[in-house]
Amino acid sequence: MTNSDISNIKTLLSTPKKIVIVPHKNPDGDALGSTLGLYHYLNKYNHDAVVVAPNDYPNFLKWMPGNNAVVIYESEKDKADGLINAADIIFTLDFNALNRAGDMVEVLAQSECLKIMIDHHQQPDDYATYMYSDVAISSTCEMVYNFIDRLGDTALIDKNIAICLYTGILTDTGSFRFPSSTSTTHRIAAFLIDQGANHSEIHNSIFDTNSYDRMQLLGRALSNLKVLKEYHTAYITLSQAELNKHNYKKGDTEGFVNYALSLEGIVFAVIFIEDQGNNIIKISFRSKGDFSVNEFARAHFNGGGHTNAAGGRSELDLKNTVEKFITILPQYSKALNHA
Ligand code: 5GP
Ligand code: MN
Repeated sequence: MTNSDISNIKTLLSTPKKIVIVPHKNPDGDALGSTLGLYHYLNKYNHDAVVVAPNDYPNFLKWMPGNNAVVIYESEKDKADGLINAADIIFTLDFNALNRAGDMVEVLAQSECLKIMIDHHQQPDDYATYMYSDVAISSTCEMVYNFIDRLGDTALIDKNIAICLYTGILTDTGSFRFPSSTSTTHRIAAFLIDQGANHSEIHNSIFDTNSYDRMQLLGRALSNLKVLKEYHTAYITLSQAELNKHNYKKGDTEGFVNYALSLEGIVFAVIFIEDQGNNIIKISFRSKGDFSVNEFARAHFNGGGHTNAAGGRSELDLKNTVEKFITILPQYSKALNHA
């Protein structure tokens, strides 16, 4: 985003606007934290800003300030369409291709209003009027902080904004452990703590609110863990029956794939989760080092994401999806042995 883009946006925001802020489908901590952080910031300027999320999300993300004002497209379509059609500006946060907005893709694509993308995923599509895209930054929340900073407004960052932005930085950096978490990330986190984000409470709200069912499902997932030593790869499967047995709720499998990646010597970890409702297998890919799961997911499983974290899907059944995956691996033998 150039200085002239910033100056245009500053001019644009100098009078009250109707603004819709959109996270990606199945929003995570970064998607919700960034949209809600921006929401609190814009409403300080008397804009009429609202977050419209494509679909519902897990309870461990429902405590953030502003959560009650989020409009869920899936359940309030007419209201949401009205907001989008009346908007002067649409911000799309934490995604860079409109099809990541689920059922909102059409109404977003046909809207001719000004669009601003803030995102850190690879290979952005070209739909936004102004694009702040940087794959090197830890999280969209860190980028929203930078955006507010470039607009000269860090003094406006209050407790609510700080809590939301800290949350997304925390979740997208894997609690500050991924390489994308830089000294700048830590300085921004420190600033957000100074503005009132309680790091301990936030961590607790996200990570220490497990249900017994979820822990049992994790046990099942770990029992299903398989290692392909030759490829430094480990994978987990969860069938719909296994999910049902443990009363699966949205978000329950979040982070499971990291257990596979935590095995010594493993550089590529995958979880395959059966979703009979949508007739697909949802796949999460994680890696360490140079092995690009973004490229792997794009090439074989209709997905994408980052170098070390990506998602995708398969329309085959669970067994055949895993077989397809295993068949593909030899092509990557060299890369996996040098990652
Ligand atoms: P997760 O595995 O947690 O669903 O996603 C990991 C990362 O990949 C996230 O940054 C997410 O936004 C991205 N991602 C997940 N699924 C897809 C997909 O189907 N397409 C693309 N382009 N990115 C995805
Ligand atoms: Mn993100």
